[in-house]
Amino acid sequence: MSLSAALNKVFFGEIVKGLGLTFRHMFEKSVTQQYPHTKPRLPDGYRGIMSLLRYDDGTERCVGCALCEIACPSGVIKVVSAEEPGRPLNRFAETYTFDVTRCVFCGFCVDACPVDALAMTKEYEWASENKRTLFLDKEQLLAIGDRNFPNRGKKPAYLGSIEGDWYVERVKAKSYPEERETA
Ligand code: SF4
Ligand code: SF4
Repeated sequence: MSLSAALNKVFFGEIVKGLGLTFRHMFEKSVTQQYPHTKPRLPDGYRGIMSLLRYDDGTERCVGCALCEIACPSGVIKVVSAEEPGRPLNRFAETYTFDVTRCVFCGFCVDACPVDALAMTKEYEWASENKRTLFLDKEQLLAIGDRNFPNRGKKPAYLGSIEGDWYVERVKAKSYPEERETA
């Protein structure tokens, strides 16, 4: 051990340093943030209330796969999926409920979603005396997504692609070949 490290230990150097910092701040001007009139600046990684997202054309991203429900350690999410009317290969979340009171904001559901349909926002002013207001349905979650993420990502190529449309045609024609014939 070096001499300076030994002296630091003997004379409680770290504690003296910490007390010095506290002492310096005693003479600085206090800053009182005028919340709620002045909102705090939140970091980009802030984990606020959850939202459901749409594609640019307004269609819902969620395909009702329920992977978020499986990934959630608190049983917050409940998904009931169904076929899209007229598009038998496409599914969507017929009902999607989110119990905010149980959420620990871990973000596992966001990571589990294969189509990036979930995102955490910077909204935090959700205190309520009525627990029922914190039980959100799909429309409420989509509305949160709409107001927090007005600039949506692009629709992935595989949705509505030539490949996808070809299979939809086959299903409509009740023909399910093993492989697509190549021209
Ligand atoms: S953030 Fe965590 S606790 Fe909240 S819904 Fe997602 S997985 Fe569940
Ligand atoms: S939010 Fe994502 S993971 Fe959850 S059901 Fe919808 S598509 Fe699946």
